[in-house]
Amino acid sequence: MFSERMKNLSPYVPGEQPRNRKFVKLNTNENPYPPSPDVQELLKGFDAGKLRLYPDPLFTDLRQVIADRYHIDPKQVFVGNGSDEVLAFAFYAFFDSINGDLLFPEHTYSFYPVYCDFHGINYKKLPLKGDFSIDLSGFLASGKTSGVIFPNPNAPTGMLIELAAIEELMEKLPKDRVVLIDEAYIDFGGESAVSLIGRFKNLLVVKTYSKSLSLAGIRIGFAMGDEKLIDALFAVKDSFNSYPADVLSLAIAEIAMKDVAYYDGITERIIKSRETLTRELAALGWEVLPSKANFVFARKEGLDGREIYDRLREEGFLVRHFNTDGIRDFVRITIGTEEMTEGLTRKIKEIF
Ligand code: PMP
Repeated sequence: MFSERMKNLSPYVPGEQPRNRKFVKLNTNENPYPPSPDVQELLKGFDAGKLRLYPDPLFTDLRQVIADRYHIDPKQVFVGNGSDEVLAFAFYAFFDSINGDLLFPEHTYSFYPVYCDFHGINYKKLPLKGDFSIDLSGFLASGKTSGVIFPNPNAPTGMLIELAAIEELMEKLPKDRVVLIDEAYIDFGGESAVSLIGRFKNLLVVKTYSKSLSLAGIRIGFAMGDEKLIDALFAVKDSFNSYPADVLSLAIAEIAMKDVAYYDGITERIIKSRETLTRELAALGWEVLPSKANFVFARKEGLDGREIYDRLREEGFLVRHFNTDGIRDFVRITIGTEEMTEGLTRKIKEIF
């Protein structure tokens, strides 16, 4: 009944979306603030008749909005059903085992090895440095490669690579293999590498609506890169699902991206909360990795990560724990509102 392919799958495990109990939800890096008020307005007046037809398979209007925002050409933009789907298409389009292993950091977004297994791509995990930052020299020392992928800032560490270091890496890496930078969290304190896509035809930058734009529910992600890379992504999409983004989500995505002032405001609040939480945890003797994302990765000597997760869960605070060698003592905590962060700090003081 089942294909060999199916039997061999080992799927990604998404963070819990609880249904029966109310938690302070700090486990999947969603934005604690609502999306732009313009989105609510759009929904109030949305004409259901518009849902009768299929969406535009070329995402023409949204690609224009994204291109305007990032000062690039719409031909340099691809859109998909969440950045997870954009990544899945990109793995299919650019990476294989003929050219060597795909390289990514040892501790990173755990969907990457899942896509590799799904598409039959060999990969090599490169160890992080002692301070948990990504060791860029590893990408250069690995010989023949199928390509390179890493998030910036990295997940789950939250640690950022500065744009100048990325530029230097791009100069040194082979020009005939794709370098994919997953910028899901870049808006929380980093500088996007999208400014480099004109110079490096092998650079693909992937972003999402799920984090800084507070729209995880609409499932929109996008990629920016040279036109040839974008054409390849369209070829993959049209071999799999011609209409991955729906009419309503596309309309919401267009209007949200234009409200820069609103999003700058909530991003600033999240950054401030992150700095407060980092300071407070450090004062309690926790080690908190320096984060430029909307989460922190933290541990406390003498405590197991699972224990921290369990105790906080009992008290109604949901964080994320990875049962993985090398990071088992950490928990990843999404930055919530000021009140959520304050509540969490108070609870941590109380329990530990
Ligand atoms: N990349 C990274 C590094 C992530 O943490 C996530 C969120 N799980 C994604 C991509 C996917 O986000 P989405 O599919 O919601 O765009």
